[in-house]
Amino acid sequence: MVLSKPDFDVAVIGGGPAGGSMGAYLAKAGVNCVVFERELFPRPHVGESLVPSSMRVFRDLDFVGQMEEAKFPHKYGAAWTAEDQGAYEMNFKGGFKDSGDEINPESYVDIRFNEREQDGVDREYTYHVDRSKFDLMLLQHANKLGAAVYEGVKVKEVDFGPKEPIIRFNMGSKEMGVSAKMVIDCSGRNTFLGNQMKLKIKDPVFDQYAIHTWFDGYDRRAFAKKDSQLDFIFIHFLPISNTWIWQIPITDSVTSIGVVTQKKNFAKSRQDREQFFWEAVGTRPLLREKLKQSDQMSPFKDEGDYSYAMKQLCGDRFMLVGDAGRFVDPIFSTGVSIALNSSRFAHKNVLRALESNNFSRESFADYETTLRRGTKNWYEFISVYYRLNVLFTYFVGDPRYRLDVLKLLQGDVYDDAAPPVLDKMKKMVAEVEQNPKHPWHKLLGDMTVDAFRQAANTV
Ligand SMILES: Cc1cc2nc3c(=O)[nH]c(=O)nc-3n(C[C@H](O)[C@H](O)[C@H](O)COP(=O)(O)OP(=O)(O)OC[C@H]3O[C@@H](n4cnc5c(N)ncnc54)[C@H](O)[C@@H]3O)c2cc1C
Repeated sequence: MVLSKPDFDVAVIGGGPAGGSMGAYLAKAGVNCVVFERELFPRPHVGESLVPSSMRVFRDLDFVGQMEEAKFPHKYGAAWTAEDQGAYEMNFKGGFKDSGDEINPESYVDIRFNEREQDGVDREYTYHVDRSKFDLMLLQHANKLGAAVYEGVKVKEVDFGPKEPIIRFNMGSKEMGVSAKMVIDCSGRNTFLGNQMKLKIKDPVFDQYAIHTWFDGYDRRAFAKKDSQLDFIFIHFLPISNTWIWQIPITDSVTSIGVVTQKKNFAKSRQDREQFFWEAVGTRPLLREKLKQSDQMSPFKDEGDYSYAMKQLCGDRFMLVGDAGRFVDPIFSTGVSIALNSSRFAHKNVLRALESNNFSRESFADYETTLRRGTKNWYEFISVYYRLNVLFTYFVGDPRYRLDVLKLLQGDVYDDAAPPVLDKMKKMVAEVEQNPKHPWHKLLGDMTVDAFRQAANTV
């Protein structure tokens, strides 16, 4: 008797950083896999600044050489700035006091990745990337390692009815389907399987909105204190509630600039994207001046409504990886690195499932546990940060905690169920919430989150 074989062992939906790295991990291990990508690469994408934990994935996939050849700017660290006048300055009081020169030290903190050694990371920097180039390179790498890649193919449905799922799509006017032993959803914020299976839970707290574009000739010296900081990511805080700007080097002369705010701030302003961007930037006169002296390279793009979680990250014969599984505010530049590391953890469970021919939800449990641990830590870190900005600068400035905070900023969030520094931060937030006389009480942000809601209610 001849048993019919599925067309592939694994089918991956989406060819961004999650799908490209998943295809590469699986193909490198000899798995018969296919990646479906609805766009024709290269295509632009938001999310250009990496954190160092991504280096482990590049090393595993023998991809570091290609990253170097591509000449992406090296990212040695990060800096946060705030205007040194007015109420917002208060948020930085008690923060790191550096012996800065032109820039008021109370409104400026920075970190360097080389301050803390990381297992499995052999250099002091990571990269900022032009995503159209980076995503294409990674997908081609997966293809070279042996993954089949179909670009311009949008998956329409996954039929879990038969024993082996069928992935359905159109090729030209023809409806087609292929079978695989399991499906990995890497479709990003499109959350293909999350939608199909109704797993998505919208974040009730983080309702952020971003407007961004690239500028040519923006003078990055404006905020760098030393030449070695020219290629740092800069986060500039605005004196508008929960609003900040990213400054990410793309090439020597091109810089990505984006304003992130709460959606309600944008809606309230009743302005179009362009007006809102320039008015927000106008609250930081030096930034505005330098941007006005440079050339805006393309119209503004926006991204909205982007925080959510999923009820489950895997099930019988499927897994959700990267943004398809979870997305939270990008304040600490985490998304791409989480996507890459998700593949790093998930592919091990996939290999085991293939070996044992057991594709039940339980076989993917390690992945789900590890990912949930990491994303919970990220989420809490971001939440503490939005609730009380001053804590971040306070902890970065305190030698007792600086390296523990740096560990989170490097992307090492998966090994600790409850990092002690996060616990300490959460306790301090609760203390400030419960004590209206605390000097920081008036600095509490209005973004409360579930983790702290109980404490907030007891005030
Ligand atoms: C405003 C903003 C700023 C950000 N800044 C940063 C940052 O500085 N650093 C950082 O690391 N991250 C940042 N991120 C997050 C980052 O963009 C994502 O986390 C990252 O792109 C996730 O990779 P992914 O592969 O999971 O998804 P994606 O990169 O979105 O890739 C998903 C792919 O799936 C394809 N696809 C979707 N549906 C289908 C379908 N039905 N069939 C076939 N293909 C499909 C899409 O075309 C896409 O190419 C930011 C995000 C936002 C919104």
